[in-house]
Amino acid sequence: MTEALPVFPYHPDPPSTGSIAPSATACVCCGRVRGYIYKGPVHAVADLSDLLYPWCIADGSAAQRYEAHFTGELIGDEVSLEVVLSVDARTPGFSAWQDPQWFFHCGDGAAFLGPVGATDLAAFPDAIEVLRSEALAWGWAADKVENHLGALDKDSQPTAYLFRCRTCSTHLAYADFT
Ligand SMILES: [Zn+2]
Ligand SMILES: [Zn+2]
Repeated sequence: MTEALPVFPYHPDPPSTGSIAPSATACVCCGRVRGYIYKGPVHAVADLSDLLYPWCIADGSAAQRYEAHFTGELIGDEVSLEVVLSVDARTPGFSAWQDPQWFFHCGDGAAFLGPVGATDLAAFPDAIEVLRSEALAWGWAADKVENHLGALDKDSQPTAYLFRCRTCSTHLAYADFT
């Protein structure tokens, strides 16, 4: 028995990003089985990995009961505490090679579109430019930066993580690897 997933304004399609998957597991927060489980990272007072379902993230009950946070480090614009909590406490996070980061732009949280590689990024020149600036800021030479951008892979490192600003629609991305 599966039903429509809750709407996550900052993570529009979590099944496509691997953060939510079909499962018959009961949610540890409410004990119900509704056909999906959250697969992403959880920072909380208990180990809740693969034990929460999306509805208890969306309505804030998991955050309230377990002091749970899901989305990792926030980068970019300063935003209100209310926005921070909407993202960090009521949005499914995603798994990355390092601790995940979440973009803020135009005073709001950006929407996470998923992990991407060089092929996927070809359609998002604005995101490639952000990734290029990021790698140049690491002090890398231009040819090393271009090799890095060409080596980005959705499934193996280095991987880029693609976001879209909910206000100006600019695409943003960062990359990580171990
Ligand atoms: Zn629950
Ligand atoms: Zn923006």
